[in-house]
Amino acid sequence: MTDPLLQRRARLMGPNVPTFYAEPVHVVRGQGVWLWDADGRRYLDCYNNVPHVGHCHPKVVEAIARQAATLNTHTRYLHGAVLDYIERLTATMGHGLSQAIMVCTGSEANDVALRMAQAATGATGLIATDNTYHGNTSAVSQLSTRRPPIGGYPSHVRLVPAPESLAPLGGSPEAQAGAFAANVARAIAELDEAGHGFAGFMLCPFFANEGFPTLERGFLDPTVAVIRRAGGLILADEVQPGFGRLGDAFWGYQRLGFVPDVVTLGKPMANGHPVGAVVTRPDIMAEFRTAFGYFNTFGGNPVAAAAALATLDVLEEEGLVGNACEVGAYLLDRMRALAHPMLAEVRGAGLFLGAEFTHDDGTPATAFADRLVEGLRQRGILAGRIGRAMNTLKIRPPMPFSRENADFLVDALDEVLAQTEEPA
Ligand code: PMP
Repeated sequence: MTDPLLQRRARLMGPNVPTFYAEPVHVVRGQGVWLWDADGRRYLDCYNNVPHVGHCHPKVVEAIARQAATLNTHTRYLHGAVLDYIERLTATMGHGLSQAIMVCTGSEANDVALRMAQAATGATGLIATDNTYHGNTSAVSQLSTRRPPIGGYPSHVRLVPAPESLAPLGGSPEAQAGAFAANVARAIAELDEAGHGFAGFMLCPFFANEGFPTLERGFLDPTVAVIRRAGGLILADEVQPGFGRLGDAFWGYQRLGFVPDVVTLGKPMANGHPVGAVVTRPDIMAEFRTAFGYFNTFGGNPVAAAAALATLDVLEEEGLVGNACEVGAYLLDRMRALAHPMLAEVRGAGLFLGAEFTHDDGTPATAFADRLVEGLRQRGILAGRIGRAMNTLKIRPPMPFSRENADFLVDALDEVLAQTEEPA
């Protein structure tokens, strides 16, 4: 540990505070798709979905500054901005998803969504996939599988096998969709037998943390039918795919072609300002509000609402969803043209792409993928890894990513691939 900041961090924040890269980057400034470190070195940000419309976008910065200089307070006063925002937001969703609770993080949003499902159904049983992350509150971490919760998974939580890209359950797309639904049906039966009943299934409509396997539109149709028959709710965690990242739809559920009962939002929503939301139908909202009377001091306060409104404005004014579609397709093509014996699959949608690496025998090339990420970082490109074995390179840049940025990334990746040895 050579960096003095790293040492201070450990001294003041305790051990195991997550950082990226063997040599963590000390960033001091950002603009658009670029970040600068303390030595003035520039990095192309190919990972960060929080600064959705670009780091320090002047319009979002100005909206935050103006509102902060006018009024910022807790949320028990009347204020129009949050209502303007909820109108704009829910207009993109359809299917009666017309009311929202504003919160500050994706974890809080998911925590509320779980309780909405329990309030609306009177049951407690919850389902998630067995390779996911939905957040860090006590309840939500019971559905997050990166680290098992203290005391193990409670019996009202069941985890179903996540869909896989290279080893799909069942072969054909229909068989895979059917196998997934059958596992969900089994989990519901187990919850019933254990006396919990079934409240809801929380899933990311892009299965982002699962490694975003390639799935056909309609993949969830049999699962949705199972859930509807059982009377549970579908909770769509749009923290990663939402706000147009996938290019061809504003929401992941629209792209996959199903209708959720509750939608949760976070990360990209206000370009870095801590804003999240839970959107649902009035009938479900009424059940929840009656059961819990939820209050959130900061959620949707005037500055949060201004930041979120400005982020939506920029997305529209700069045509960034169209950009994600067009540049994403270009980047996907260029990545698919890379030739390397360990490159097993390039996949994704819009500006959310991955490249999975395996050995000759099909086993995951985890250490190799790690070396690639480190090699890119040495060349001034920030990327990440994902998947059950963390052997998939994850590319998820701010939305103004250009063709030139894509070329810069793929040319560097080509060089890093040529120079990276498989660890002995
Ligand atoms: N849901 C998903 C799918 C996420 O990836 C994350 C964070 N990575 C969260 C929820 C939690 O969001 P937050 O960190 O804002 O609480």
